[in-house]
Amino acid sequence: MADQNTRFLLPELHVRGQIIELEHSYQSITANADYPVEVAQLLGQALAAVSALGSIIKLRGSIILQAQGDGPIDALVAQANNAGEIRGLAHGYETLTTESGFAKLLGSGRLVMTVDAEGGKRYQGIVQIEGEQLSDTLEAYFAQSEQLKTHVFLAANKRRAACFLLQQLPGADAEDAETCWQHAKILGGTLTETELLELDTKDILHRLFHQQEVQLFEPAPLVFRCRCSREKVIPAILQMGYEDAMKLVEEQGDISANCEFCNQLHRFDRVDVAALFRTQSTASRRKH
Ligand SMILES: [Zn+2]
Repeated sequence: MADQNTRFLLPELHVRGQIIELEHSYQSITANADYPVEVAQLLGQALAAVSALGSIIKLRGSIILQAQGDGPIDALVAQANNAGEIRGLAHGYETLTTESGFAKLLGSGRLVMTVDAEGGKRYQGIVQIEGEQLSDTLEAYFAQSEQLKTHVFLAANKRRAACFLLQQLPGADAEDAETCWQHAKILGGTLTETELLELDTKDILHRLFHQQEVQLFEPAPLVFRCRCSREKVIPAILQMGYEDAMKLVEEQGDISANCEFCNQLHRFDRVDVAALFRTQSTASRRKH
């Protein structure tokens, strides 16, 4: 199964939809940490959900789903951009002792959705964490921010994570649109986790909407990619100042930053650090 995002349209019902399937990317991301099964699956659901949202955003940029609660998992982060690149992580799993679902893992807290558009524009939406599933909180987010009726269904097992999303199209006649929406939602609501994780997109749509006209779009690929780099660590080192940075190198042997998303170690030894400050002072002399 390919990692992909397939959009579809149910024109008679004034509804659009998406099916996200993750396999290789999900496995690569969860392999970056020693996650217990239920945390990996929750992260998989968050990745599938954010992948669906990544293609909805009209601007170029990325969308970040961040759940912060008072439960053992104090942070769950998933990010997607409109190039179909995804990454994510969970914090706090090390102390987890018992198996539990979304509500117990996150506890009470909030879900923050951030859209970082290219060019520095940032939009944020916040909802309280609610319900037994991540999808309950996401539906609350849509109800609050998009005002378009949205149905979200998420599933994950050890190998795959998936998202099934239905959304009412804007601009339809009110009374008719409500009847159509209810119809689409009832049909969509019969999808099971096993079907979503195991069936092809075409088979899922045939199973749910065989009596409807379905327009299927070309699937867009999704891939795990982390855009971290050595260059992005440099400002933090320069911020420390030469004396403090060199003192740290003295104590630790080097300055290293481990990327939590991809596990890559960005390491700066004594020569690297000295060179950074030399470059900076040359650059600032040139400026003046
Ligand atoms: Zn990284």
